[in-house]
Amino acid sequence: QQRFVATSNNALFGKYELGKLLGCGAFAKVYHARNVRTGQSVAVKVINKKKIDKTSLMGNVKREISIMSKLNHRHIVKLHEVLASKTKIYFVMEFVKGGELFAKISKGRFSEDLARKYFQQLISAVGYCHSRGVFHRDLKPENLLLDEHGNLKVSDFGLSAVKAQIRADGMLHTLCGTPAYVAPEILTKKGYDGARVDVWSCGVILFVLTAGFLPFSDQNLMAMYKKIYKGEYRCPKWMSSELKRFLSRLLDTNPETRITIDGILRDPWFRKGGGYKEIRF
Ligand code: ADP
Ligand code: MG
Repeated sequence: QQRFVATSNNALFGKYELGKLLGCGAFAKVYHARNVRTGQSVAVKVINKKKIDKTSLMGNVKREISIMSKLNHRHIVKLHEVLASKTKIYFVMEFVKGGELFAKISKGRFSEDLARKYFQQLISAVGYCHSRGVFHRDLKPENLLLDEHGNLKVSDFGLSAVKAQIRADGMLHTLCGTPAYVAPEILTKKGYDGARVDVWSCGVILFVLTAGFLPFSDQNLMAMYKKIYKGEYRCPKWMSSELKRFLSRLLDTNPETRITIDGILRDPWFRKGGGYKEIRF
């Protein structure tokens, strides 16, 4: 599946025709592209790898990629193939039409029922990956996309490990964006468990969906870290008590006592309405 061949400018290995820029992330650029032979629309994430292949790190990256390309779930952006030139890695992915989930929230917070629908889809994707030993570690709004039917698609699953490898090489150490979704145990830089860290980030996402604002925020970065570390947040008064209780289990600063995916599947707020029954890992 992984081919390593040279590339020309806009025709990717003669196979994909690169189109317009879809988005610019902290570590890559994402383009719309078309499979020349089949006409299929795809998204291509381009990462500048610079010197990475000169080190043993490339072996780790390849291992991660082979795990990622085996993931197959209706709420995960499918990775079709990975191509590489001397200086770039190209992740050819399923093209997701509906934009980012959080573009919708700028128009106002969601009802608890709508938030539950997205949260159940998020958990089904996260649980599926966890049961295969793949952790996201970077769950945040820009990685939650919507398809043409308004269903959630999580992007970048497993990619964080690849990103970490590239950062370790000193190439792309620009940690852009906000740490608002990062679990407290990451801030203390002790060891951490990928599954528990993902559950925390899911908690922050659920809070934002239902509150319309971040649980932990501050103009001052150190002050924000402190709030995360202490688990200092306040629920708005319109939240149901079931939701507040659930959030307190997700946003538990102690990773040992924090709710797990199994616990989430048993939670009364999560199960309301029965939609959880569709969840399969
Ligand atoms: P990074 O991981 O480097 O931060 P992103 O994954 O956030 O980069 O990609 C940047 C933007 O590109 C996203 O916010 C999204 O708008 C767009 N994008 C990413 N993947 C896709 C995709 N598969 N289909 C459509 N748009 C995408
Ligand atoms: Mg991303």
